[in-house]
Parts: sequence; C-alpha cells; structure tokens
Amino acid sequence: MKILVINCGSSSLKYQVIDMNGELLLAKGLVERIGMDGSVITHEKHDEDKWVNEVPMKDHNDAIAQVLAAVADPVHGVIKDMSEIGAVGHRVVHAGEKYAHSVLIDHSVIEALEECTELAPLHNPPNLMGIAACQKLMPNTPMVGVFDTAFHQTMPPESYIYALPYEYYTDLGIRRYGFHGTSHKYVSQRAAALMNCNLDDLKIITCHLGNGASVSAIKRGKCIDTSMGFTPLEGLVMGTRCGDLDPAIVTYIREKLDLDQGVANEILNKKSGVLGISGVSSDFRDLEKAAEEGNERAQLAIKVFVHRVRFYIGAYIAEMNGVDAIVFTAGVGENDVQMRDLICNDLGNLGIKLDLVKNKVRGQETIISRDDSRVAVILIPTNEELMIARETKEIVEAL
Ligand code: ADP
Repeated sequence: MKILVINCGSSSLKYQVIDMNGELLLAKGLVERIGMDGSVITHEKHDEDKWVNEVPMKDHNDAIAQVLAAVADPVHGVIKDMSEIGAVGHRVVHAGEKYAHSVLIDHSVIEALEECTELAPLHNPPNLMGIAACQKLMPNTPMVGVFDTAFHQTMPPESYIYALPYEYYTDLGIRRYGFHGTSHKYVSQRAAALMNCNLDDLKIITCHLGNGASVSAIKRGKCIDTSMGFTPLEGLVMGTRCGDLDPAIVTYIREKLDLDQGVANEILNKKSGVLGISGVSSDFRDLEKAAEEGNERAQLAIKVFVHRVRFYIGAYIAEMNGVDAIVFTAGVGENDVQMRDLICNDLGNLGIKLDLVKNKVRGQETIISRDDSRVAVILIPTNEELMIARETKEIVEAL
C-alpha cells in the first residue's frame, strides 16, 4: 500500500509518499506561500530529482491539487494514477482528551477536532483545511488522523492536572496535553528495537530537542509524563519559547511594560528561549559559534538550555524509579555532539556514561553510551511521517 502523508500548516504544507511494502520513501515535498504571491511547490522524487514549480495557489484546495499533480506527474511523479494511493495520513496537532489513538476520519471526528480548535487556534484550522481539501479531491480514499497529543493521553492525572481551581479543568479543558507525541512514540519504539528489548520492559526518557523541544517519560511503552503542557510553550527552554516560568512574571511584565495580550504572547513564543537570553540566534549552530568566540550571553543560553534538560531527566528518573535508556532526537538531539555531551556530563552516579568517541556521530541510529553504562544513551533520528504512515496503514488494513 502506498500512503500519502500530509502535514498542513497555515501557509505551508509538507508531504511524503511512502510505499509501505518495505517502508520506502518514494517522494517528499513542500508547498510554501499558500494564499500569497509567489506560491511554490518543491517536489523531490527520492534520490532522483528535485522539481521546483512556482504556480498560483490561492488556498489549501489548490495546494493539495498541486501535490496530487506532482505525485502523479509523468516525469517527476512516483505513481501513474491516484488510485495507487491506498490512504492518506494527516498530522493533526490537537485532539484534546478525545483521542488517545489515531482514527479513521469521518464526520464525527471532524466535529471533535473542530471542538479542539480553541485549544490549538494556530494549528488545528490548517490541519482541518488539509483534510477537507483531500476529501474533496480524493473522495473514495480513506483518511486517518494522527494526533500530536494522542501518545500523551496515558499520563496519569497527577501528571496532567494543574494546581488551579478544578473547574478550569472540567469546564475549560485546562490541563497538560503534551505535544510531539508521534516523535516520542516513534523514537521509543526504535530505541527498544535497537536495544533488542521489549518496549514493555523498559523505562525510557526521550529528548526531542529541535526548535521546539520536549522530554517524555515512557514506562512500559506508555507516556507517563511530558514537559510540554496546555500549549507547546511549557517545559524546556526552546529556540524562541521561554518554557517553564513563574506565572507571576507574565502579569508583572504586562503591567510594567504595558503589553497587550498579543504582544505578551509574541514575546513568550517568539522572542524568548535561547534567542531571548543570547540576543544572537535561536539556532544552536549560531549560538555555539558565538559562544566559542567568547559571547557570554550565548554561553549562558547554552548553559540554561542544558540545565533545563538535565532537570527534566532527573525528575523523570525519580518518577519512573530509574531509567534504562535516554534517547536524543530532532535537529539538536540528532546533530549536536557538544549538546549531548553537556547534557550527559557527570551523570555517572545515575548510571549514565556517554562514550565521547561514539557520540561523535550525526543523524544515524546508534547507541552512544559506554559499554559499562547501566543506562543506554541512544541517538535516533525521528521520523514522524513514517510513524503517521504506519498508523494509517494499520487502521486502514483493519477496515
Ligand atoms: P523544528 O522541527 O522544531 O523546527 P528541528 O527538529 O528541525 O526543529 O531542529 C531545528 C534546530 O536544530 C535548528 O534550529 C538548529 O538549532 C538545530 N540544529 C540542526 N543541525 C544542527 C547542528 N549540526 N548542530 C547544532 N544544532 C543543529
């Protein structure tokens, strides 16, 4: 079965076509500037050619139509006819408490996801537009929703309830949801495979460190805690997001600096994190270069980032009464040798010993701890699209 995976943003859209017979990536692409001047699709036939096609796309319907045209293009495409696509897997950010698993999309699912829009106003609407556009153009192809929040639905109440009036949870849905679930699930499964162990026997801490970053505690294959919360703003220090704060700071800076709500939100989401501390960049490559050149605020930003990751690792070891593996993934986790070294430094008493030579690797599945390390430290490149395709296949095959 060939599966089309769609990850739809407000003005951009990523897609992949995966042949599940051997899990082969056939093509991937990116549509940018949907609804703006200069909209463009970049389509890559895996290991063969890259095709950039500037074509007007006024909305998501036009964008999906261009994706389907590229995928079935006689020269650049990877299928002859749309009927070869057995199913479409859609990434959807927020499914609230409604879905702890991926589901076949029908009318009631759409309604439930529309209800969750209040919780993810920037993400769910474009995700839903992508689904609607696909349904219109491929009315007979089954569609599956794969949710960022689903994997974290196994958290116990003590992990997800905030110490606010309880009615805020029951009436407004204010609780910790967690995000990046598809990635945490995928890398924990791969880690177990690499260790030749059953996931049900393991306690794993997964560190998804990208521009957005989160850590999860996974016990016997189930998420029991994660660092992101009601929104993806909570938890770790990120590229531009502040992560955990004393909530009183928000009211204090709003009053002191006379900030309206939108500006305050923008500061916490776009101008904070390592960018805010360093004043240099949200990109760790720039930050490390500046730090090497003696920029003290860049050095501080790296230290604060590392401190917070270690803080969560320690907390999750306590929550699970131990850990068998620590997994690094996403842009920073997969590529940043120095960051992994700093995070794992001096944790020998917890049984965590990084091998500094094995650690000198980027973007490939490898165990990077020493042979005498009680805890395996593992690098796993994430692959959310493959995870979405796997879940889509499983649901469609069971129909
Ligand atoms: P997201 O999906 O959240 O946008 P990614 O997982 O793609 O983010 O990670 C992007 C980040 O990864 C970049 O901002 C950069 O900081 C970091 N990164 C990528 N390559 C490297 C590298 N070689 N060394 C250090 N950091 C890197």
